[in-house]
Amino acid sequence: MHIERLAVDPSVGLAMPPQRLLDALADLDVPVELVDEDEQFGPGDAVVSFGHRDSFIDADWVHCIRAGYDEFPVGVYDEAGTYLTNSTGIHGTTVGETVIGYLLTLARRLHVYRDAQHDHEWTRPRYDEPFTLRDERICVVGLGTLGQGVTDRAAALDMDVVGVRQSGKPVDGVSTVYTPDQLHEAIRDARFVVLATPLTPETEGMIAEPEFETMRDDGYLVNVARGPVVDEAALVAALEREAIAGAALDAFDDEPLPEDSPLWDFDEVVLTPHVSAATSKYHEDIATLVRENVENIAAGEALTNRVV
Ligand code: NAD
Repeated sequence: MHIERLAVDPSVGLAMPPQRLLDALADLDVPVELVDEDEQFGPGDAVVSFGHRDSFIDADWVHCIRAGYDEFPVGVYDEAGTYLTNSTGIHGTTVGETVIGYLLTLARRLHVYRDAQHDHEWTRPRYDEPFTLRDERICVVGLGTLGQGVTDRAAALDMDVVGVRQSGKPVDGVSTVYTPDQLHEAIRDARFVVLATPLTPETEGMIAEPEFETMRDDGYLVNVARGPVVDEAALVAALEREAIAGAALDAFDDEPLPEDSPLWDFDEVVLTPHVSAATSKYHEDIATLVRENVENIAAGEALTNRVV
Protein backbone atom coordinates (compact mmCIF):
# COMPACT_ATOMS: atom_id res chain seq x y z
CA MET A 1 0.00 0.00 0.00
CA HIS A 2 1.25 3.46 -0.88
CA ILE A 3 -0.57 6.47 0.57
CA GLU A 4 -0.68 9.45 -1.80
CA ARG A 5 -3.30 11.55 -0.02
CA LEU A 6 -4.77 11.76 3.46
CA ALA A 7 -8.38 12.97 3.27
CA VAL A 8 -10.03 14.36 6.39
CA ASP A 9 -13.80 13.82 6.32
CA PRO A 10 -15.93 16.72 7.63
CA SER A 11 -17.50 14.37 10.21
CA VAL A 12 -14.36 14.79 12.35
CA GLY A 13 -16.02 18.12 13.23
CA LEU A 14 -18.20 16.15 15.66
CA ALA A 15 -15.12 15.69 17.87
CA MET A 16 -12.86 18.66 17.09
CA PRO A 17 -12.44 21.64 14.74
CA PRO A 18 -11.21 19.93 11.52
CA GLN A 19 -8.59 22.65 10.97
CA ARG A 20 -6.89 21.72 14.25
CA LEU A 21 -6.45 18.17 12.97
CA LEU A 22 -5.20 19.41 9.58
CA ASP A 23 -2.64 21.61 11.35
CA ALA A 24 -1.53 18.75 13.59
CA LEU A 25 -0.97 16.54 10.53
CA ALA A 26 0.66 19.24 8.39
CA ASP A 27 4.16 17.81 8.93
CA LEU A 28 3.34 14.50 7.18
CA ASP A 29 5.09 13.71 3.90
CA VAL A 30 1.72 13.11 2.20
CA PRO A 31 -0.75 15.91 1.32
CA VAL A 32 -3.52 16.27 3.90
CA GLU A 33 -6.81 17.87 2.86
CA LEU A 34 -10.30 18.46 4.17
CA VAL A 35 -12.75 16.92 1.67
CA ASP A 36 -16.51 17.28 1.10
CA GLU A 37 -19.12 14.73 2.15
CA ASP A 38 -19.54 13.61 -1.48
CA GLU A 39 -15.81 13.12 -2.18
CA GLN A 40 -14.94 9.97 -4.14
CA PHE A 41 -11.90 7.85 -3.27
CA GLY A 42 -9.54 5.45 -4.98
CA PRO A 43 -6.21 3.65 -4.62
CA GLY A 44 -3.60 5.70 -2.74
CA ASP A 45 -6.26 7.39 -0.60
CA ALA A 46 -6.47 7.24 3.18
CA VAL A 47 -9.41 8.76 5.06
CA VAL A 48 -9.69 10.02 8.63
CA SER A 49 -13.31 10.09 9.76
CA PHE A 50 -15.72 10.01 12.68
CA GLY A 51 -18.29 7.89 10.84
CA HIS A 52 -18.62 5.63 7.81
CA ARG A 53 -19.58 6.57 4.24
CA ASP A 54 -20.01 4.01 1.45
CA SER A 55 -17.50 5.90 -0.73
CA PHE A 56 -14.72 5.08 1.79
CA ILE A 57 -14.67 1.47 0.62
CA ASP A 58 -12.72 2.53 -2.48
CA ALA A 59 -9.90 4.03 -0.39
CA ASP A 60 -6.94 1.96 0.80
CA TRP A 61 -7.24 2.75 4.49
CA VAL A 62 -9.83 4.39 6.76
CA HIS A 63 -9.05 5.60 10.27
CA CYS A 64 -12.01 5.98 12.65
CA ILE A 65 -11.37 8.71 15.23
CA ARG A 66 -13.48 6.86 17.82
CA ALA A 67 -12.63 3.77 19.85
CA GLY A 68 -16.01 2.21 19.10
CA TYR A 69 -16.36 1.22 15.45
CA ASP A 70 -19.78 -0.46 15.86
CA GLU A 71 -21.30 1.90 13.26
CA PHE A 72 -18.82 0.76 10.58
CA PRO A 73 -19.79 -2.22 8.33
CA VAL A 74 -16.63 -4.13 9.21
CA GLY A 75 -17.49 -7.10 6.96
CA VAL A 76 -17.77 -4.82 3.93
CA TYR A 77 -14.32 -3.34 4.61
CA ASP A 78 -12.91 -6.83 5.08
CA GLU A 79 -14.40 -8.07 1.83
CA ALA A 80 -13.17 -5.02 -0.11
CA GLY A 81 -9.66 -5.31 1.36
CA THR A 82 -9.91 -1.77 2.77
CA TYR A 83 -7.98 -1.40 6.00
CA LEU A 84 -9.92 -0.04 8.97
CA THR A 85 -8.20 1.25 12.11
CA ASN A 86 -9.76 2.72 15.26
CA SER A 87 -8.70 5.05 18.07
CA THR A 88 -8.63 2.82 21.11
CA GLY A 89 -5.80 3.52 23.53
CA ILE A 90 -6.26 7.30 23.86
CA HIS A 91 -9.32 7.67 26.11
CA GLY A 92 -8.10 6.26 29.40
CA THR A 93 -7.36 9.63 30.99
CA THR A 94 -10.33 11.59 29.64
CA VAL A 95 -12.98 8.97 30.32
CA GLY A 96 -11.23 7.87 33.53
CA GLU A 97 -11.39 11.42 34.90
CA THR A 98 -15.00 11.87 33.77
CA VAL A 99 -16.09 8.66 35.48
CA ILE A 100 -14.39 9.67 38.72
CA GLY A 101 -16.19 13.00 38.31
CA TYR A 102 -19.53 11.18 38.10
CA LEU A 103 -18.71 9.09 41.18
CA LEU A 104 -17.65 12.10 43.23
CA THR A 105 -20.68 14.08 42.04
CA LEU A 106 -23.08 11.34 43.13
CA ALA A 107 -21.35 10.48 46.41
CA ARG A 108 -20.66 14.06 47.48
CA ARG A 109 -24.08 15.20 46.12
CA LEU A 110 -22.65 17.98 43.91
CA HIS A 111 -25.46 17.58 41.36
CA VAL A 112 -28.02 18.36 44.07
CA TYR A 113 -26.33 21.62 45.04
CA ARG A 114 -25.78 22.66 41.43
CA ASP A 115 -29.46 22.04 40.67
CA ALA A 116 -30.45 24.09 43.73
CA GLN A 117 -28.07 26.87 42.73
CA HIS A 118 -30.13 27.49 39.60
CA ASP A 119 -33.05 28.35 41.91
CA HIS A 120 -30.87 30.36 44.37
CA GLU A 121 -31.74 27.76 46.99
CA TRP A 122 -29.57 27.02 50.04
CA THR A 123 -30.15 23.25 50.11
CA ARG A 124 -28.63 20.97 52.73
CA PRO A 125 -28.68 17.19 52.27
CA ARG A 126 -30.36 14.70 54.54
CA TYR A 127 -27.78 13.51 57.08
CA ASP A 128 -27.46 10.02 55.59
CA GLU A 129 -27.26 11.10 51.91
CA PRO A 130 -23.59 12.03 51.35
CA PHE A 131 -20.94 9.31 51.39
CA THR A 132 -17.28 8.95 50.48
CA LEU A 133 -15.81 6.84 47.71
CA ARG A 134 -13.20 5.41 50.06
CA ASP A 135 -13.86 1.67 50.63
CA GLU A 136 -16.93 1.67 48.36
CA ARG A 137 -16.90 -1.13 45.82
CA ILE A 138 -16.72 -0.31 42.12
CA CYS A 139 -17.17 -3.00 39.48
CA VAL A 140 -15.73 -2.08 36.09
CA VAL A 141 -17.09 -4.20 33.24
CA GLY A 142 -14.51 -4.19 30.44
CA LEU A 143 -10.90 -3.71 31.50
CA GLY A 144 -9.38 -2.25 28.33
CA THR A 145 -8.24 1.36 27.87
CA LEU A 146 -11.35 2.91 29.43
CA GLY A 147 -11.66 0.31 32.15
CA GLN A 148 -8.03 0.63 33.17
CA GLY A 149 -8.34 4.44 33.16
CA VAL A 150 -11.19 4.07 35.65
CA THR A 151 -9.68 1.34 37.83
CA ASP A 152 -6.34 3.17 38.23
CA ARG A 153 -8.11 6.28 39.47
CA ALA A 154 -10.61 4.41 41.64
CA ALA A 155 -7.74 2.53 43.30
CA ALA A 156 -5.98 5.85 43.97
CA LEU A 157 -9.12 6.96 45.84
CA ASP A 158 -8.93 3.81 48.01
CA MET A 159 -12.03 2.27 46.47
CA ASP A 160 -12.55 -1.49 46.53
CA VAL A 161 -12.05 -2.25 42.82
CA VAL A 162 -13.34 -5.38 41.09
CA GLY A 163 -13.87 -5.97 37.39
CA VAL A 164 -15.14 -8.17 34.58
CA ARG A 165 -12.87 -9.29 31.80
CA GLN A 166 -13.34 -11.85 29.04
CA SER A 167 -10.18 -13.75 29.96
CA GLY A 168 -10.65 -13.39 33.71
CA LYS A 169 -6.88 -12.82 34.00
CA PRO A 170 -5.66 -10.58 36.84
CA VAL A 171 -5.26 -6.83 36.33
CA ASP A 172 -3.13 -4.47 38.44
CA GLY A 173 -5.18 -2.61 41.04
CA VAL A 174 -8.25 -4.88 40.60
CA SER A 175 -8.78 -7.16 43.59
CA THR A 176 -11.07 -9.69 41.87
CA VAL A 177 -11.46 -10.20 38.13
CA TYR A 178 -14.62 -12.03 37.07
CA THR A 179 -15.48 -13.50 33.67
CA PRO A 180 -18.63 -12.34 31.77
CA ASP A 181 -20.58 -15.46 32.87
CA GLN A 182 -20.01 -14.31 36.47
CA LEU A 183 -21.51 -10.87 35.83
CA HIS A 184 -24.13 -11.13 38.56
CA GLU A 185 -21.60 -12.14 41.18
CA ALA A 186 -19.40 -9.23 40.05
CA ILE A 187 -22.08 -6.53 40.26
CA ARG A 188 -24.01 -7.83 43.29
CA ASP A 189 -22.08 -5.97 45.99
CA ALA A 190 -20.92 -2.96 43.98
CA ARG A 191 -21.97 0.58 44.86
CA PHE A 192 -20.99 1.58 41.32
CA VAL A 193 -21.18 -0.56 38.17
CA VAL A 194 -19.23 1.02 35.33
CA LEU A 195 -19.70 -0.19 31.74
CA ALA A 196 -16.60 0.14 29.55
CA THR A 197 -17.04 -2.56 26.90
CA PRO A 198 -17.47 -2.20 23.14
CA LEU A 199 -20.96 -2.73 21.71
CA THR A 200 -20.94 -6.28 20.33
CA PRO A 201 -23.58 -9.01 19.94
CA GLU A 202 -22.43 -10.30 23.37
CA THR A 203 -22.65 -6.95 25.17
CA GLU A 204 -25.88 -5.65 23.58
CA GLY A 205 -28.52 -5.59 26.33
CA MET A 206 -25.96 -6.94 28.83
CA ILE A 207 -27.51 -4.82 31.59
CA ALA A 208 -31.26 -5.41 31.72
CA GLU A 209 -33.92 -6.19 34.30
CA PRO A 210 -32.18 -9.22 35.90
CA GLU A 211 -29.01 -7.15 36.38
CA PHE A 212 -30.93 -4.24 37.94
CA GLU A 213 -32.57 -6.75 40.28
CA THR A 214 -29.12 -8.09 41.17
CA MET A 215 -27.58 -4.67 41.78
CA ARG A 216 -27.73 -3.06 45.23
CA ASP A 217 -30.71 -0.76 45.67
CA ASP A 218 -28.26 1.98 46.71
CA GLY A 219 -26.08 1.21 43.67
CA TYR A 220 -25.41 3.44 40.67
CA LEU A 221 -24.96 2.46 37.03
CA VAL A 222 -22.37 4.35 34.97
CA ASN A 223 -22.46 3.89 31.18
CA VAL A 224 -19.56 5.31 29.16
CA ALA A 225 -19.68 2.43 26.64
CA ARG A 226 -22.53 2.54 24.12
CA GLY A 227 -26.26 3.05 24.74
CA PRO A 228 -27.48 -0.39 23.60
CA VAL A 229 -25.21 -2.15 26.14
CA VAL A 230 -28.01 -1.19 28.54
CA ASP A 231 -31.67 -2.02 28.02
CA GLU A 232 -32.83 1.59 28.31
CA ALA A 233 -36.50 0.77 29.04
CA ALA A 234 -35.39 -1.58 31.83
CA LEU A 235 -33.14 1.16 33.21
CA VAL A 236 -36.01 3.65 33.31
CA ALA A 237 -38.21 1.04 35.01
CA ALA A 238 -35.46 0.25 37.55
CA LEU A 239 -35.03 3.94 38.37
CA GLU A 240 -38.79 4.40 38.72
CA ARG A 241 -39.21 1.52 41.16
CA GLU A 242 -35.93 2.47 42.92
CA ALA A 243 -34.31 -0.88 42.22
CA ILE A 244 -31.10 1.17 41.93
CA ALA A 245 -30.24 4.58 43.38
CA GLY A 246 -29.30 6.36 40.16
CA ALA A 247 -27.06 6.51 37.13
CA ALA A 248 -24.47 8.52 35.26
CA LEU A 249 -24.95 8.15 31.52
CA ASP A 250 -22.84 9.34 28.59
CA ALA A 251 -24.24 7.00 25.93
CA PHE A 252 -27.83 6.38 24.84
CA ASP A 253 -29.89 4.32 22.40
CA ASP A 254 -30.77 7.45 20.43
CA GLU A 255 -28.34 10.35 20.35
CA PRO A 256 -29.09 13.17 20.88
CA LEU A 257 -31.28 11.82 23.67
CA PRO A 258 -34.88 12.59 22.61
CA GLU A 259 -36.43 15.53 24.43
CA ASP A 260 -39.24 13.33 25.76
CA SER A 261 -36.94 10.67 27.26
CA PRO A 262 -37.82 10.06 30.93
CA LEU A 263 -34.08 9.87 31.67
CA TRP A 264 -33.80 13.68 31.62
CA ASP A 265 -35.98 14.07 34.70
CA PHE A 266 -34.57 11.79 37.40
CA ASP A 267 -32.85 13.78 40.19
CA GLU A 268 -30.37 10.93 40.67
CA VAL A 269 -29.37 10.64 37.00
CA VAL A 270 -26.45 12.67 35.72
CA LEU A 271 -26.52 12.91 31.92
CA THR A 272 -23.69 14.02 29.67
CA PRO A 273 -24.07 14.30 25.88
CA HIS A 274 -21.54 11.63 24.83
CA VAL A 275 -18.63 13.83 25.86
CA SER A 276 -16.80 11.77 28.47
CA ALA A 277 -13.76 11.58 26.16
CA ALA A 278 -13.84 15.24 25.11
CA THR A 279 -10.60 17.20 25.46
CA SER A 280 -9.04 20.24 23.81
CA LYS A 281 -6.13 17.97 22.88
CA TYR A 282 -8.17 15.45 20.88
CA HIS A 283 -6.62 16.59 17.58
CA GLU A 284 -3.15 15.85 18.98
CA ASP A 285 -4.10 12.36 20.19
CA ILE A 286 -5.67 11.48 16.83
CA ALA A 287 -2.77 12.98 14.87
CA THR A 288 -0.33 10.83 16.87
CA LEU A 289 -2.25 7.65 15.96
CA VAL A 290 -2.60 8.62 12.29
CA ARG A 291 1.06 9.66 11.99
CA GLU A 292 2.16 6.35 13.50
CA ASN A 293 0.18 4.40 10.90
CA VAL A 294 1.32 6.57 7.98
CA GLU A 295 4.86 5.70 9.11
CA ASN A 296 3.95 2.03 9.55
CA ILE A 297 2.59 1.90 5.99
CA ALA A 298 5.67 3.64 4.58
CA ALA A 299 7.88 1.13 6.41
CA GLY A 300 5.76 -1.84 5.27
CA GLU A 301 4.87 -2.63 8.87
CA ALA A 302 1.57 -3.77 10.40
CA LEU A 303 -1.02 -1.12 11.23
CA THR A 304 -1.59 -0.17 14.87
CA ASN A 305 -5.23 -0.56 16.09
CA ARG A 306 -6.17 -2.49 12.97
CA VAL A 307 -9.80 -3.69 13.00
CA VAL A 308 -9.68 -5.41 9.57
P1 NAD B 1 -10.57 -1.52 24.46
O1 NAD B 1 -10.60 -2.40 23.27
O2 NAD B 1 -9.27 -0.98 24.94
O3 NAD B 1 -11.26 -2.24 25.70
C1 NAD B 1 -12.50 -2.90 25.64
C2 NAD B 1 -12.41 -4.10 26.56
O4 NAD B 1 -13.72 -4.65 26.73
C3 NAD B 1 -11.51 -5.20 26.00
O5 NAD B 1 -10.56 -5.54 26.98
C4 NAD B 1 -12.48 -6.35 25.72
O6 NAD B 1 -11.88 -7.60 25.90
C5 NAD B 1 -13.53 -6.07 26.77
N1 NAD B 1 -14.80 -6.77 26.56
C6 NAD B 1 -15.44 -7.04 25.40
N2 NAD B 1 -16.58 -7.71 25.65
C7 NAD B 1 -16.65 -7.88 26.99
C8 NAD B 1 -17.58 -8.50 27.87
N3 NAD B 1 -18.68 -9.11 27.42
N4 NAD B 1 -17.33 -8.46 29.20
C9 NAD B 1 -16.23 -7.87 29.68
N5 NAD B 1 -15.29 -7.29 28.90
C10 NAD B 1 -15.52 -7.28 27.58
O7 NAD B 1 -11.56 -0.33 24.11
P2 NAD B 1 -11.68 1.08 24.88
O8 NAD B 1 -10.83 2.09 24.20
O9 NAD B 1 -11.53 0.85 26.33
O10 NAD B 1 -13.19 1.45 24.53
C11 NAD B 1 -14.23 0.58 24.93
C12 NAD B 1 -15.54 1.04 24.35
O11 NAD B 1 -15.96 2.21 25.03
C13 NAD B 1 -15.48 1.44 22.88
O12 NAD B 1 -15.69 0.33 22.04
C14 NAD B 1 -16.57 2.47 22.75
O13 NAD B 1 -17.77 1.87 22.41
C15 NAD B 1 -16.67 3.06 24.16
N6 NAD B 1 -16.07 4.41 24.24
C16 NAD B 1 -16.90 5.43 24.59
C17 NAD B 1 -16.38 6.70 24.69
C18 NAD B 1 -17.27 7.85 25.08
O14 NAD B 1 -17.02 8.97 24.69
N7 NAD B 1 -18.30 7.61 25.88
C19 NAD B 1 -15.02 6.95 24.44
C20 NAD B 1 -14.20 5.87 24.10
C21 NAD B 1 -14.74 4.60 24.02
